[in-house]
Amino acid sequence: SLRIDGVSKSYVSDKLALDQVRFQARSGEFVVLLGPSGSGKSTLIRLIAGIETLDSGEIAFDGKTVAGGGKHLPPEERDLAMVFQDYALWPHMKAAENVAFALRRLKMGASERRRKALEMLDCVGLATHAEQYPNDLSGGEQQRVALARALVAKPGLLLFDEPLSNLDADLRERLRVEIASLTRECGSTVVYITHDQSEAFALADKIGVLHAGKLVQYSTPEALYTAPETPFVARFTGLAG
Ligand code: ATP
Ligand code: MG
Repeated sequence: SLRIDGVSKSYVSDKLALDQVRFQARSGEFVVLLGPSGSGKSTLIRLIAGIETLDSGEIAFDGKTVAGGGKHLPPEERDLAMVFQDYALWPHMKAAENVAFALRRLKMGASERRRKALEMLDCVGLATHAEQYPNDLSGGEQQRVALARALVAKPGLLLFDEPLSNLDADLRERLRVEIASLTRECGSTVVYITHDQSEAFALADKIGVLHAGKLVQYSTPEALYTAPETPFVARFTGLAG
């Protein structure tokens, strides 16, 4: 489970990038963050990841504080993995090596790591590409490798910051389906940022809408439709009459 409690963050003195954000996700829940450019989505995900420090509030995984109250666990000590738009695979490592690298901190031998990496690549439909370097893969294939790398260690929490925004509509649709089924299989809690509302509604158990650093609604997709809590939410989701 993930608990965000009264989290605020500013980069420059008088402007809050996040203002008292608070929500909870149960284990295995798929949370999508929506909101206009600059509303604080990436900031929130970076705070959860631990690559940014918060000014106030608390973040807890499974009841354990990872940030807040003077505490700040570094990203590698939080049980999570991230996938970004520019997925940054290691260019000098083959696909299988990139995936196996994510297992480097776990207590297992090199052959076991490799076996798990190949298994995961098979899951994302890339069994035959395991020995290729990222530069010899298409954008969609590279994103699949990044997905395999994120999933292979079965992290408790998966963070996605617009992972599909560089891909064409067709591929986006296919990968979206894959992300949905693989994350469910994994049982991980997911926080997923997108600008694409159909993607949000297709994936989410819960949708959080950010507006100028505030979480203005956090509810099921259905409730977002039937009961937008502010005029902004209604307008933003295109549901205003
Ligand atoms: P987008 O949809 O464009 O990715 P976002 O919702 O992810 O936007 P953030 O990147 O979280 O928005 O930015 C929130 C606010 O914080 C913005 O006003 C932004 O200019 C500011 N901000 C983000 N990162 C920094 C930084 N490193 N230094 C200063 N200001 C920043
Ligand atoms: Mg962003």
